[in-house]
Amino acid sequence: MNDASAYLILIVEDERELADIFRGFFEREGFRVALARDGSTAIDLHHSLKPDLVVLDVRLPKRDGFEVLAELRRAGSTPVIMSTALGEDLEKLTALKVGADDYLVKPFNPLELVARAKAVLRRSGGAAGNASVLRIGPIEIDLSAHQVRRVVAASAPAAIEMTRTEFRILAHMARTPRKAFTRSEIVDACLPGDGEALDRTVDSHVGNLRAKLAAAGETGWLQGVRGIGYRLMSP
Ligand code: CA
Repeated sequence: MNDASAYLILIVEDERELADIFRGFFEREGFRVALARDGSTAIDLHHSLKPDLVVLDVRLPKRDGFEVLAELRRAGSTPVIMSTALGEDLEKLTALKVGADDYLVKPFNPLELVARAKAVLRRSGGAAGNASVLRIGPIEIDLSAHQVRRVVAASAPAAIEMTRTEFRILAHMARTPRKAFTRSEIVDACLPGDGEALDRTVDSHVGNLRAKLAAAGETGWLQGVRGIGYRLMSP
């Protein structure tokens, strides 16, 4: 997947200003970002949000970066980039031993961080197990399991049942959020073998999809675009 918007980065950093700077650089490149300011929150968010990559500070309140890293490694193989303070060479070495994918020594250029993150994501490919998941807001589209879930930090992920065609439409549109799709584009991509499908067939699938998302508490994601078709974007 080359579209950065599919990737969720969890930034764990207790210095608020620094966290905001990192967030800005990632968001400008189209990544989605979640922030944690201490080690315990980092572990909780990793569990609930299943980020594609974690940027992890070493010196953190509650649980330090190494404890967090060890915990993430027990939970799976999410790529981790450690950010260590100048002169903490020993920590750097330990980080590599406990399984970080890369590290940077502060102060570093945030552009370098984004470049390293992209490289790590390329290397890890689908191996992390999360790369086949598209996310748009709290909606998680698992392409390999063919499942849609609503993931909100405070509660357990809730599955949203849908038909194969509805799933295809949602996944297709989620690959390019904000794009206005024509009805015939949606037919070509999502209703294979149904070349005769009419505009109102698309309208009916989209209507059902909207209703299912709304029943799960998500409204306004599928917007009609007059004279064109539909777009998927944050309400
Ligand atoms: Ca720190």
